[in-house]
Amino acid sequence: MPESLKNPTEVRKISKGFEKASVEEILRWCWNRFGDRAAIGTSFQGAGLVINHISRSLGCNFPLFTLDTGLLFPETLELKAQLETRYGISIESLIPEQTVQEQERELGPELWNKKPNLCCTLRKVIPLQKKLSNLDVWITGIRREQTAERSQAGILELYHFDGIMDRFILKLNPLANWTRDQVQQFLKKHDIPVNLLISKGYRSIGCQPCTRPVGAHDSERAGRWTGFDKAECGIHTFLGANI
Ligand code: SF4
Repeated sequence: MPESLKNPTEVRKISKGFEKASVEEILRWCWNRFGDRAAIGTSFQGAGLVINHISRSLGCNFPLFTLDTGLLFPETLELKAQLETRYGISIESLIPEQTVQEQERELGPELWNKKPNLCCTLRKVIPLQKKLSNLDVWITGIRREQTAERSQAGILELYHFDGIMDRFILKLNPLANWTRDQVQQFLKKHDIPVNLLISKGYRSIGCQPCTRPVGAHDSERAGRWTGFDKAECGIHTFLGANI
């Protein structure tokens, strides 16, 4: 990573400038500086699909990865296959160290019902940490209107990834300003396939045991981890505060 981009003041300045830039300009900036040292992480929920579509139309062929916990809906896996065919790409699946069955043998059945934070750490956060250790930029589909926690997200953020190795990582949230409607309209306009569960009332789609359909007026992530005081799986919080 260029030394200037390890400077929090410089990153904040660039991020501020991005508030007025188009998504195309932001993605071109990233591709020109980082190429495939930047990658799009997606759970195929809308924003990631928009970012991928725009990137490819610009010739910015960022690699894509997803967290496959072994507990995803068949509809999600089907969508992954459809996207790979449509764009002629391979989307890397990040797999936990243990299968669901191995985890069950070691930690008991349905860990997600007893200790969802531990389950998310084992099945999502640790595989992601490993992936990010080989990247300079993690491109995400975070949008500010999704949750209170995400409302302060910058378009470009700098994190201290590894204090021992003194490694940094940039997080790029090119659609931070977009609304859910903007995302949906873009997907429709460009005929991009979406998760079939959306038409069944699912507004935020993760692992099967921790996702349920919600009403049209519920918040986007209301259907996640019902019964727990938990709105994030940890992948967007384990890095701590941006610097
Ligand atoms: S979302 Fe649920 S099932 Fe998936 S990793 Fe987290 S706790 Fe486990």
